[in-house]
Parts: sequence; C-alpha cells; structure tokens
Amino acid sequence: MIELRTPAEIDQMRAAGGFVASVVEATAAAAAVGVNLLELDALAHEMIRKAGASSCYIDYHPSFGASPFGRVLCTSVNDAVLHGLPHDYALRDGDLLSLDFAAEVDGWVSDSAISLVVGTPRIEDLHLIDTTERALTAGINAARIGNRIGDISAAIGDVAHEAGYTVNTDFGGHGVGRTMHGEPHVANDGRPRRGLPLKAGLVIAIEPWFLAATDEIVTDPDGWTLRSADGSRGAHSEHTVAITDDGPIILTARGQ
Ligand code: MG
Repeated sequence: MIELRTPAEIDQMRAAGGFVASVVEATAAAAAVGVNLLELDALAHEMIRKAGASSCYIDYHPSFGASPFGRVLCTSVNDAVLHGLPHDYALRDGDLLSLDFAAEVDGWVSDSAISLVVGTPRIEDLHLIDTTERALTAGINAARIGNRIGDISAAIGDVAHEAGYTVNTDFGGHGVGRTMHGEPHVANDGRPRRGLPLKAGLVIAIEPWFLAATDEIVTDPDGWTLRSADGSRGAHSEHTVAITDDGPIILTARGQ
C-alpha cells in the first residue's frame, strides 16, 4: 500500500531525518585507519540511547537474514556494499567504507547512507563514490509531482551508465514512514514515464549503489553482508526524501 503523508506529518518526520543525518555524520567522521567497525556501531548505539531513538536494524529479521541483525549500523567494506554486518575488523588505509543507518524518532523512520575512503584514496574509488552521489542527486531532482517512479529510476541509471557502471535492480529504494521498508520499490535503473505517479506526501528512500565491475552480488555466510561476485568494490549513497508541492525535501540532509 502506498501511504501519503500530510505536510504536518512530514514536519514531524524531520526529527528522525535530522537524527539519522547526525549519526551518519558522526560515524563517518569517526571512521579512520585503525578504528574497528564495532566501535562505529557502538558510537551509533550510544547516540540512539542518548536521543531516546529506536534502531530499525537491531531486531530486523527478514526472510533472507540468518538471524536478527543484532547491530544498529551497516558497515560495508570494499567489495561489500549493502547490509554489512559490523564485525571485529580494524579499518585499513585505503578501505572504501559504506555506512547505512536507519532509526525511528517520535514514531517516524528515516534512512540514509554514505560511502567514504579511509586514509589514502584510490582514484577509481573516489570516482565510484562520486557517481553514486551524482546519481542520488539526479534521483532526488526527479522526485517531483508530475513525474513517475520510473523517472527517478531512469535518472539514477543514466548517471551509472554514463560512468560505465552496470546496475543491479534487485535492491533499491523504498517507501519510508512508520516502518523502514514500504512501497513503492525504487529501482536504481528503469524507464522514464513508467510506474507510480509521484504525488505530494510520498516519502521514499532513494539509494543508488554501484559496483565497479559487475552487477552481481553474493551473500556472506553471516547471512547479511552483500558483496560483489567478482571482488570489485562498491559504493552507496542514500537519503530519505519527501515529495511536496514545493519540490523534494531531503529529510536526512547533512550539515544542518
Ligand atoms: Mg538505508
């Protein structure tokens, strides 16, 4: 079911969006050579506790998960790109780290992700990250009344293809509201002018993620971490966006 939010509800959702943005910023700033993924998870957990927020991940147990996630932050390193389960790993120089975080504040959920390089970057990693960020911007710019879901997907896919990446459309964006995952699915590639017409009050997570040399993913034995089938690196950028009469509002905007 597609749910539309009133302007007053979208205003209420800003608290969750701002909190999620603050955790993404803090964990990204803390990521450095020698820092353990479990320390980043602990930092996010402490911020949740202090804010009186709730984690969307810790008890999350969908059909594909081997067990409940058990952590509050997704940390995907190098060839891992989505759902990376934090484990005992100290970040190394040149690691490409993707952080994904969702939480509930005042009964509303927000969801956001960022990729960054720890220490000395490789130029191809910066290009991959930059492409996911440009695709996210293009997707957000297409999230306007009068367009359709396919216009967002096509805008994202066009940026990927122009940069020479292929796109996996199995995992993508989604409706966000009282829970983390709702309708509609927002694929990271598609045909313009197709799919659900975009209306004021639709709130969606838009989340392009690309792999450097493939669109095939495999799941780790932990049942969660998704990594490229060929070992190439991945990057991921995500914001929660409200479609309004005044255009798209990025609820998880950073630097506020
Ligand atoms: Mg997310």
